[in-house]
Amino acid sequence: MELKSPWIESFIVGSLQMRCSVITDFKTGDTIIIDGGEESDRIISWIENFEGTGPDWSTGPKSLDDMEKRGVTKRNVVALVNTHAHYDHSGHIPYFIEKYGVDWYLHKDDFFLQTLAKKSALSRGIIVPEPAVADKLLEDEKVYNFGSISLKNFHTPGHTLGGCSLLLSVSDGPDHIFVGDTLFAGSVGRTDLPNTGGDFTVLSNSIKTKLWPLEPDTVVHPGHGPMTTIGVEKLTNPFVGDSSEGNHRFIGKYL
Ligand SMILES: [Zn+2]
Ligand SMILES: [Zn+2]
Repeated sequence: MELKSPWIESFIVGSLQMRCSVITDFKTGDTIIIDGGEESDRIISWIENFEGTGPDWSTGPKSLDDMEKRGVTKRNVVALVNTHAHYDHSGHIPYFIEKYGVDWYLHKDDFFLQTLAKKSALSRGIIVPEPAVADKLLEDEKVYNFGSISLKNFHTPGHTLGGCSLLLSVSDGPDHIFVGDTLFAGSVGRTDLPNTGGDFTVLSNSIKTKLWPLEPDTVVHPGHGPMTTIGVEKLTNPFVGDSSEGNHRFIGKYL
C-alpha cells in the first residue's frame, strides 16, 4: 500500500558516516528502522522523546507537540530492516532488538557476512556487540508489510551477495528507495572488499535491471553521501549511467 506524506529521517552515524533511515506512518505511528548500524542511543532517544541531536535530515516533526499536531501520539517501532550486513549498517542491531524486541529482516546471502560484523568493526577500532541473527528473510521482488508500512524489496547484489534495495511507494509525491551501498550519488558501492562477494559486473547488472526501471523522480537514499534520484544517476553516473562506457577503471566508494 502507498503511504501518504511519509515521515522519513536520516541519521548519519559512526565514523563511516552511514545513513540510518527511519520511516514513520503518520496515520498509525508505525515505524521501521533501516540499517541500524551505529549510534543506537542517539536514534532511540529521538524516536522516543525527541531528545539529543536528532536526525541530519527529516520530513517530519521535531518535537512531541509538533508530532501530536500531526496526529501521532506515539511511534511504534515494528521492524528492523537491513540493506546488507557490513558492520557500519548492522553493528548496533543487537541494541535495537534489545530495546524493541521486533524482527530483523536481512537477505540470506548476507548471513555469513553478518557473522563477521564484530570482527571487521574491531579491525577498524570500532566496538560493536556480538552480531544478532536475523529473524526474517528478505526476498527478491517481494512486498513486505511492516505494520502499516509496505516496502518492496529488490535483491541487488554486487557490493555484497545479499545486498538489497527497498522501495517505499508514496501516494502524494515521489517514491523513495533505500539502496544501502549499491548506488551512490555519482558512484557505486565498492566491489573489492574481502568476504563479501563483491563483483562489479553483478552490481552493474543489479542497478540496470532493478533500479533504472523505477520512476526517474524516485528519491535515492544511499548508505553514504548525499541523496540523489534515479533519473539523475541513470543519466550521469560515471560507473553505471547511460553515458558510462561500462569499462570502469576505478572502484566505487564506501564500505
Ligand atoms: Zn556502508
Ligand atoms: Zn557496505
